[in-house]
Formats: sequence, C-alpha cells, structure tokens
Amino acid sequence: MSKPRIPVAEPELGEQELKNVTVAIKSGWVSSKGEFIERFEKGFANYVGTRHGVSTCNGTTALHLALVCLGVGKGDEVIVPSLTFVAVPNAVIYTGAKPVFVDSHPAYWCMDPQKIRKKISKKTKAIIPVHLYGHPCEMTPILEIAKEKGVYLIEDCAEAHGAEYKNRKVGCFGDISCFSFYGNKILTTGEGGMCLTDSSEYANSMKILRDHGMNPKKRYWHDFVGFNYRMTNLQAALGVAQLERIESTIRRKTWLASVYKEVLGKINNVTLAPEMPWARTVYWLYSILLRGVNRDRIMLDMDEAGVETRPFFYPAHKLPPYKTKEELIEAERLSKHGMNLPSSTKLSENEVLHVCDSLKRALVQQVR
Ligand SMILES: *Cc1c(COP(=O)(O)O)cnc(C)c1O
Repeated sequence: MSKPRIPVAEPELGEQELKNVTVAIKSGWVSSKGEFIERFEKGFANYVGTRHGVSTCNGTTALHLALVCLGVGKGDEVIVPSLTFVAVPNAVIYTGAKPVFVDSHPAYWCMDPQKIRKKISKKTKAIIPVHLYGHPCEMTPILEIAKEKGVYLIEDCAEAHGAEYKNRKVGCFGDISCFSFYGNKILTTGEGGMCLTDSSEYANSMKILRDHGMNPKKRYWHDFVGFNYRMTNLQAALGVAQLERIESTIRRKTWLASVYKEVLGKINNVTLAPEMPWARTVYWLYSILLRGVNRDRIMLDMDEAGVETRPFFYPAHKLPPYKTKEELIEAERLSKHGMNLPSSTKLSENEVLHVCDSLKRALVQQVR
C-alpha cells in the first residue's frame, strides 16, 4: 500500500467545473468553437485588466504566439531570466531568435532590472520578465529600459495569476502578456494558455496565427504559415469555472503562506519567500531557501515523511541546449538552495504543520 503523501500542487475542481464541461459536451462543441471560449477570453482579460484575450492550447504556445506576432525571428535576441521554466528560452528558440540570459535579483528572485541594460544589443527585440513562483518583477525600471531601447515587453505570468505590482495586476504591463493554465497553476484548464493585450492589432494577428494563418474572410486561404494553437471549448469550460474561484484560490494560498511564515520564520537555516513592499505575491508555490545544509538531503528526508517538495529550476544557462561559460551568481545560488513546499489549496492546517515538522526534523538531522 502506498503511503499517504502531501503533494506540492493539486488542482481544485468542483461542481461548477463538472457542470460547465457537461454543458460543453452536451452542446457537441468540443473543439475550438463554442460559447465558453469567448466567455473565458473576455472574463480573464477583464479580470487582469486588458482589452483582449487570445486563448491558446498551453502556456508555451502562448509565448511562441506572442513572439511571432511581434515579429521576433532569426537574427534577433530576446532577454530572459536564467532562473525560470525552460519553456521561456525554448519559445525564443522556436522563432529562430537567441535567448540572452539575465541574472536574478537576490531579494526577490526575479530578473534583476539593473542587469538587463548591459545585455541589450543592437539585435535585442524583446524582454520577457517572468513573475517567478507568484512574485511580481519590478516593472518600473524594466518598462523604462524597454521604452528607452525601443524593444518589446512580453510578460510571462504563468506562475502569477492575480499578482500585483504597485496595485496593478501583472499582465497589464507588457505589449503582450502570456499565461499558462497547466494543471498545477493558480487557474487550470488542464492544458491551456492565453495571450493578453490592449492592442486590437496584436489580438487579431494572434487569432489568425493560432488558426493556421487562415484569412478570416476567405476560408482555406492562408496568407502565411500559421499554427494550430487553439484552446478547446472543453478547456475553456473548465477555465470559466476556475475563474469564478480565483480570488478564493489566492486567499487560500496567502493563508497557507502565513502558516509557513509563522512556523518557519523562526528557523535559522530558512529564508522565507520574498514579498517586496510594492508586491502582492500570490504564492503559486510557497518557496524557501535553505542555508548551511544540503537541500537535496533535506528533500529526501521529507519525501520519507510523505512530503513532496520540488527543487528550484536549474538556471537555463547551465542546461545542455543553452550552456554558456558565463556565471550568473544569484541564479546559481538560488537554484542550489531553493525549494518549493506543498502549496495545494486543498491542504489542511494540520497537513501544513506536518510539512513544517518534517522540514524541522530533517534540519535537526543535519545541523546537530
Ligand atoms: C508553466 C510555465 C510555462 C509554460 O506553460 P505550459 O502551459 O506548461 O506550456 C511558461 N513559463 C513559465 C514561467 C511557467 O511556469
């Protein structure tokens, strides 16, 4: 018999999700036409505060679509953080452009605005800040640099639905912003994604690009090579229901974080997840740094106690496809010491306390 385990993330799917998907199935619209798609696009764009939403089949295709829409391609460079999920540099590579990696800010772990400027070249076409693990990037200096250098800004909000920078939701700052609705994200459609923008020109272009590049006025006439990156009505049906509960999801994650803060804040070897004064973080995965101990050993001990954890991402500039000799000290340090703790909204207080307890026990083994 398998031991009961506390997972890092688990979606919360209820009656409304079931009802909407049933409606979609009974309607017969199971592919990329149907009432839920527009409802979800409009509803989500409205929630974030942009004029247009263009849904996609996942977050990676949302990034690719945004890059292609802005004309990024061969010979261009795109500035991305090194400490992020690999889909970000991958989407850049799909266009033929080259990702250029920037180090993390030591205090809040996202791309360090001070380190962007010296990575800008004549070839730079766009910057993709990633709001990592639910914490927003510092947008003011990033916006300034983008404006001054005349490069596009694409926000990657895949881990930060509902997070705010200076009381404005992330996803409002970029020329285009991209979201993922993968099963472990703050809002899920199973697989899914969306591009948000205020520009009707970009929105129309992305709608055509995601639909094989087909001319909307002339069926089977394709002016250029497009993609099939459409979301299905079934996914959108889930999304509409998930959107109704997003604020309660974020409240629950914030509460989980408050329990973690209170219990783990007193421990010497633990650095808590950041929350800058200008940020409303949504704690996608509650994350900590461990100092003076072997993180991987701690993770193994917690695993033994039935607690699932995740290490931070590897810095992309260390991965085989992107390997450089460059040192990005903060990204490397964070990657080595960081871990994500169970952050499912379904967790009870007792389960969170059990997670804390298993961490404390594992620490005692190493520290004594
Ligand atoms: C999850 C994620 C993506 C990719 O989303 P998928 O829906 O899995 O394709 C992109 N960027 C970041 C930062 C992510 O965490």
